[in-house]
Amino acid sequence: MSLLGEFDRGDQAKIGEQLHRYAAELFPICRSITGDGIRQTLGQINQRIPLQFSEVPTGTEVFDWTVPKEWNIRDAYIKDASGRRVVDFRRSNLHVVSYSVPVRATMSLSELKQHLFTLPEHPDWIPYRTSYYKESWGICLAHNQLLALADGDYEVCIDSTLADGHLTYGECYLPGRSEEEVLISTHACHPSLANDNLSGLAVATALAEFLAGRDLRFSYRFLFVPGTIGAIAWLARNREKTQHIRHGLVLTGIGDAGAFHYKKSRRGDAEIDQAVAHALRHHGESSHVLDFSPYGYDERQYCSPGFNLPVGCLMRSVWGTFPEYHTSADNLDFIHPSQLASSFRLCAATLDVLEGNGRYQNQNPFCEPQLGKRNLYRSGGGEAIGEEINARLWVLNFSDGDHSLLDIADRSGLPFASIRNAADVLRQSGLLVALPDASEQTSNSPDAKRAATRRPRVTGAAAPD
Ligand SMILES: [Zn+2]
Repeated sequence: MSLLGEFDRGDQAKIGEQLHRYAAELFPICRSITGDGIRQTLGQINQRIPLQFSEVPTGTEVFDWTVPKEWNIRDAYIKDASGRRVVDFRRSNLHVVSYSVPVRATMSLSELKQHLFTLPEHPDWIPYRTSYYKESWGICLAHNQLLALADGDYEVCIDSTLADGHLTYGECYLPGRSEEEVLISTHACHPSLANDNLSGLAVATALAEFLAGRDLRFSYRFLFVPGTIGAIAWLARNREKTQHIRHGLVLTGIGDAGAFHYKKSRRGDAEIDQAVAHALRHHGESSHVLDFSPYGYDERQYCSPGFNLPVGCLMRSVWGTFPEYHTSADNLDFIHPSQLASSFRLCAATLDVLEGNGRYQNQNPFCEPQLGKRNLYRSGGGEAIGEEINARLWVLNFSDGDHSLLDIADRSGLPFASIRNAADVLRQSGLLVALPDASEQTSNSPDAKRAATRRPRVTGAAAPD
């Protein structure tokens, strides 16, 4: 059974509701790149999938970066002269600039304004701001809140700590038949923002749950890391593991109503790039494929030139292009159960392609083999052959060792599942053999031996089993 087939047999509305509910559970937590917020988040993910936690001490050098101090926040407010909280962290954790140093002071409105951030063009929204690598403090508020502040003195409190501690990340490893890996990475460092962060977290967690316990070709590694510094820390501490990463995907911002955007890996022609583009083409929603650029999410680190890993980034609306981005309007109403479910479905379709792709060799390449005598053709003459038989003809014609099943699917315009099924049927009939995949050590399989005797030079071959 394919992953997509399994997904489609389920109740998609219910899956969407579950994903949204899970995002809602995680929403109130005040996350940052370090501290108890991300720990608590990883703890909740660990209740669903087995996570291995890593704690990297403050001051640890990770490539050109240094793990920062750990930040924790308990409360923050601005009180007016009457003692009333006019800005209250308990109402929204976006009110505090992430990584603000502790403050307890009384100051005039004009002095206070140096530290206030608003969005005049969206006067009811609170912006999301951070200051990870420069010690400062700030309060974010709705512009209308700011306009309502009368002249006078205000008491400011940011009850935070910024001290030596740890950076925390979590990973879930699901072993497959091959030690080659599919990496799924998502950042887990944003506070109460739904699309940017929680949509990716929710789908990645559900995907790991969905894959756990299955017989999988690849091993899967799910990373839940603080953005940038977390991915850099993981890469610095796991450099040798990166050689096993065959495909990778950063998941982020996949719960909003916008069209899908897939940003290709730096390589641009990696199998993951082709697989996602194929899955999008057959998914039935509008989508765009973007070339790699060195700005974005953690694909920047995985695709830095020293690593150049085959890792792309799946989004819906692209960061920074929609007004709700990094504001309080990126809330639980901004993400939708149906969009979350559809994003999950697209991931399942993509993984089916990766799991099932490979190269085959037609054992009967001189003219078409007679399918009828093998019961592989339609029974009567005259009628149209239909997709099933058409897929068999495509697979036979292009299984020359150079074309993968995904190449054949793209060239024929047929969905990968049809091509994959055709290859299975033809293989059972002896018309096709799988070519060996160097990484999977299938060279002792009977198929590989037969292929090797007929076609001595096999390059870049990938067998799906
Ligand atoms: Zn963000």
